[in-house]
Amino acid sequence: MEPRDLSEHVPYRAGRGIDEVARDLGLDPDELVKLSSNENPFGPSPRAIEAVQSAAESVHTYPKAAHTDLAAALADRWDVETEQIWLGPGGDGVFDYFGRAFLDPGERVLVPEPGFAYYAMSARYHDGVVDNYTLSKAEDFAQTPETVLAAYDDHRIIYLTTPHNPTGSEMSYEDIETVAQETDEETLVIVDEAYAEFTDAPPARDLVEERDDVAILRTFSKVYGLAGLRVGYGLVPESWADAYDRVNTPFAVNLPACRAGLAALEDDEHVEKTVETARWAREYIHDTLDAPTWESGGNFVLAEVGDAERVAAEAQKEGIIIRDCSSFGLPECIRITCGTRESTPEAVDTLNEVIDR
Ligand SMILES: *Cc1c(COP(=O)(O)O)cnc(C)c1O
Repeated sequence: MEPRDLSEHVPYRAGRGIDEVARDLGLDPDELVKLSSNENPFGPSPRAIEAVQSAAESVHTYPKAAHTDLAAALADRWDVETEQIWLGPGGDGVFDYFGRAFLDPGERVLVPEPGFAYYAMSARYHDGVVDNYTLSKAEDFAQTPETVLAAYDDHRIIYLTTPHNPTGSEMSYEDIETVAQETDEETLVIVDEAYAEFTDAPPARDLVEERDDVAILRTFSKVYGLAGLRVGYGLVPESWADAYDRVNTPFAVNLPACRAGLAALEDDEHVEKTVETARWAREYIHDTLDAPTWESGGNFVLAEVGDAERVAAEAQKEGIIIRDCSSFGLPECIRITCGTRESTPEAVDTLNEVIDR
C-alpha cells in the first residue's frame, strides 16, 4: 500500500545538529559554535532545568493540571481569558491547529517569500493551497500593507512575521491593523511573533482584543531557550477561542515542557540577559562583519556574502555553524544567530577570514 499523494509536500530538512557536525569533523561538540537555528546561546533558564528534573517523577500521568497552569499563567500575563491561549507542541504545532480550525480543502493561504517554511507545509497538510507575497531584497525586505495586499485575493489565512525570519525586517502595529482592515472578515491574519521579545516594537496583542480576525503566535523556543521541549502558543480572539477543544491533539504539550515553560516565564533575569546580549551581538555583527547586513529586530542577522554555500561549508570546517539561506531562496545570504559576548566575536573573526578568501 502507499500513502495518499504527497507530491505537493516538501520534506522538512532541519539544520544539522551540533553532535552530527562534530562527529563528521572529528571534533568535540564543545569546540563548535552553533549559530544556525536562532537558539538561546545561554541555554535554558536554570529554573526550567530544575522544573524538568522534578517533572520527571510525574511523567506517568497526563499533564492535565500542568497544561491548565501554563495556559492560566500566560492568560494572566497577556490579560486575556485562559481559553484564548492555545498551547501547542512548538509554534509549529499551533500553526497546525490554526489550519485544522480554519482551512476547508482547497482554501488558499498567503505566505511571505522569503519566509518561514512551515507556514506552507502546515497549510498543505490541511489541504490548503499556498500563494506567496514577495518581500523584495531591493527594498530591504520592507513589510508594508501594499506588499501583502498586492498578492491578496480573498485568502483564508495570511501569515505575517515580525520580526521576520530570516531577514529581520519588521511590520508596524498600524500596518498589521491595515492588513486586517483591508482584507475580508473571513480572512484570518496570523501574526508570527516568535522573535518579538528581541524588539521594542509593540506586540499585536491589542488587535486580538479589538478584532476577531487576528491571532498571534508565540514560542518558548527562542528567548526562553526551550526549543528541545517543543512548546508554543497562540493568542486568539475570545469569540472563537473555544474551537481549540475541537482541534487540539489531547495534551498537546508534554508535562516537563509545561512545567519548564512556567518556570521560564518567571525567570526575568534569564530573559533580560538573553535580550540584552542579542541586541549587543546584532550591533557587533553589523559593525564588524565584512559583508553588508540588514537591520534586524530578531536574535539573528542576515548578511550578503556572495556564495553562501561556500561560506557556510568553510566556516563549518573551522567550527562555526551558521545558516546558508539558499533554502529561503537567498543563495547569496547567510543568517547568523546572535551568540554570547565570547562566541559572537569568535564567529565573526572566522566568517571574515572565510569571506575575504
Ligand atoms: C522558530 C520559529 C517559530 C516557532 O518555532 P517552534 O520551535 O516550532 O516553536 C515560528 N516562526 C518563526 C518565524 C520561527 O523562526
